[in-house]
Amino acid sequence: MPVTHNNNAKIGQEIGEGRGVLIIEKERCKGCQLCIGACPRGCLKLSDTLNKRGVRSAEFYLKDRCTGCALCAVMCPDVCIEVKKNS
Ligand code: SF4
Ligand code: SF4
Repeated sequence: MPVTHNNNAKIGQEIGEGRGVLIIEKERCKGCQLCIGACPRGCLKLSDTLNKRGVRSAEFYLKDRCTGCALCAVMCPDVCIEVKKNS
């Protein structure tokens, strides 16, 4: 089961092979897609469902391809993404 952390709107999902955790605050996401364009591995897409803001939020779906580079987190203008890499 990929869900490892859940408080309020934050749900963390394991990055493949125990590399860490990626958290997207889906309810704050405005669906601008900047993170999706920034990911060099194509790991993010828009959700099929709407969040409380009425937009399709970013979704982490290709977890095994993620390197934990955090470019998505750096790119998000609203700081909705957090990447916690295992050392
Ligand atoms: S951490 Fe890097 S590889 Fe993983 S989803 Fe974000 S941009 Fe893509
Ligand atoms: S960059 Fe941030 S606000 Fe924009 S879609 Fe990604 S998570 Fe949502």
